[in-house]
Amino acid sequence: MNEAPAAGRRVRLCVLGPSGRMGAAVIDAADADPAVVVAAAVDRQGAAVLGSAVAADVIASDDLSHGLAAADVYVDFTMPLATAAVARAAIASRTAAVIGTTGLDAAARAAIDELAAVAPVVVAANFSLGVNLVLGLCRQAARALGPTWDTEIVELHHRAKRDAPSGTAIAMGRAIAAGVGADFDRVHCYARAGEVGARPDGEIGVVAVRGGDVVGEHTAYFFGPHERVEISHRATDRGIFAAGAVRAAAWVVTQPPGRYDMLDVLGLA
Ligand code: NAD
Repeated sequence: MNEAPAAGRRVRLCVLGPSGRMGAAVIDAADADPAVVVAAAVDRQGAAVLGSAVAADVIASDDLSHGLAAADVYVDFTMPLATAAVARAAIASRTAAVIGTTGLDAAARAAIDELAAVAPVVVAANFSLGVNLVLGLCRQAARALGPTWDTEIVELHHRAKRDAPSGTAIAMGRAIAAGVGADFDRVHCYARAGEVGARPDGEIGVVAVRGGDVVGEHTAYFFGPHERVEISHRATDRGIFAAGAVRAAAWVVTQPPGRYDMLDVLGLA
């Protein structure tokens, strides 16, 4: 079992996907944070980055068990298949985890739950402070405005994003549903086309826009009679997610086994 690092020692990270947009940003954020150090970087077999130096004294490798053994915590911004496989592999070493991959399927969620039974794990669809504030505001607004207000969420992301709607948009939808005591899985609407008829009461619409290099924009609309409230967040640099993930990594190694989110890390839970 990996032990929590002794006081004063830097928390050792194993960064997954160093060739990816977020993996590279996590390495940059770790370089800027004296509480942590990148101890290993693991990418998929065949990735062009394998064998290259990605951080001080760190060569990217596809040897996951070596990477996990070298680290106190691994940081995962990859894709759902990889998230499931790595979480299963980390159970034996009880390695702490910070998981930001979105679009997780049932297999990935189950693997994370198994890992969280033996190690502390932070899972968040969005690691930015601002978005986590927005989640709280969405819930508060929905509760205050009530179920007669129509709510819609619009999200914008770069053209390479694989999943839709974004994990953050879904988290906003869940926050709004919680605010009015509704079940998001029953009231969400991800697409409208054709003769869909009038908007049902209580529906939460979510629209995904894709294009260019947009880092991430989310707006929750609350439509009442003769007035409208909008709660928006715009990310202009993915470094905010990476810095949040590094902060989560330094925090999670001090926690007992269990599943945590960014509100726990920020002390807002
Ligand atoms: P990307 O395609 O640029 O990078 C993915 C990386 O994962 C690549 O380097 C790829 O080689 C690597 N990879 C794939 N399989 C692997 C494996 N088995 N082991 C190790 N590495 C593997 O994608 P991205 O834009 O960096 O986004 C990655 C994920 O992070 C997406 O799910 C995205 O939605 C999510 N994301 C989350 C947040 C957040 O705050 N939670 C923010 C931004 C992006």
